[in-house]
Amino acid sequence: MVQSTDKANAVPGIRDMLTRLISLPSISSASPDWDHSNEAVIRTLAEWLEPLGFAVDILEVPGMPGKYNLIATLGSGSGGLVLSGHTDTVPFDDKRWQSDPFTLTEKNDRWYGLGTCDMKGFFPLAIEAAKAFVDQPLQQPLIILATADEESSMNGARALAEAGKPKARYAVIGEPTNLRPVRMHKGIMMERLRFDGQSGHSSNPDLGRNALEGMHEAMGELLALRAEWQDKYRNPNFEVQVPTLNLGCIHGGDNPNRICAQCELHFDLRPLPGMNMETLRQSILGRMQPLAERHQLNLTFEPLFDGVPPFETPADAALVKACEKLTGHTAHAVAFATEAPWLQKLGLETLVMGPGSIDQAHQPDEYLELAQLQPTVDILKGLIKEFCL
Ligand SMILES: [Zn+2]
Repeated sequence: MVQSTDKANAVPGIRDMLTRLISLPSISSASPDWDHSNEAVIRTLAEWLEPLGFAVDILEVPGMPGKYNLIATLGSGSGGLVLSGHTDTVPFDDKRWQSDPFTLTEKNDRWYGLGTCDMKGFFPLAIEAAKAFVDQPLQQPLIILATADEESSMNGARALAEAGKPKARYAVIGEPTNLRPVRMHKGIMMERLRFDGQSGHSSNPDLGRNALEGMHEAMGELLALRAEWQDKYRNPNFEVQVPTLNLGCIHGGDNPNRICAQCELHFDLRPLPGMNMETLRQSILGRMQPLAERHQLNLTFEPLFDGVPPFETPADAALVKACEKLTGHTAHAVAFATEAPWLQKLGLETLVMGPGSIDQAHQPDEYLELAQLQPTVDILKGLIKEFCL
């Protein structure tokens, strides 16, 4: 007991931990002007987890200097529970914040700061829950996982899936869900379609190959495919029950009296669980190729980013049942994507559940309700008891 207190006392309390994490910028962004290293956050977590007896492994994300994942393991065994969060935040708009985004500010029973809710706030709460178990022999390991670049490329989680780490049985991702268990989300794909033809004077169509006309037909095909998918796939757990395809932006041509030589369309696709992203891309390509040939256009079709696969854990999974019992809420579906598909790839039964609301994520004056702190610690302790003791 004395030993336990000593170990726990070596680590700051929830508020001090979060103050520190919020003060360390760790924005990730496809735009190099915004992109930061997450090393300071990772090193700080290691500094707290080591005195508690965790074995800490810091892994650089291949090909991404300055970006790290952390795997901290307490105990050993082939099963166990992963508590997972991402260390990065989105960029922020300074002018729209009423307080300093990097200073934890308490007001109206809330903690304000960039990342309080999405999702640096989860780490101090997970560590606080772990403190209660540091001197008990665990039957199965407790693993705290901290990832890089969730908000931009998801390359942190992707690298872990490729490395086959960590190994465990269950994983809870502490994204803001108001402490309600989430067992499914749609995938996200963003694709680029481009036709290259040849310009020429508009007075004679034979002088060129019109990319805009090809694109007109292509958009018709995409909308037809959408209708087919929406006929075939439906999941009543989602607010939008069908897969979606959004024509997002288009650029092409320069003059009414010139044959349009290039046209590019960007669109977004949100597949339901059970739909395979590669199969969808092949279906699209299968419609575009004959069309491009007919119009004698060069076709480019490629993803704008690697995409996030859809995610689903069965309703009767042990982790779903445990989280439903601890929270009193039935697991549901959400409209945002997470790192869950990559943790699933590692063989982990995965669920998303954490403090704070997604409504506050990616917003100025992001906050975490103080009323969610203790319930989060209690639920996490319940999970550790269930799956590690
Ligand atoms: Zn998040």
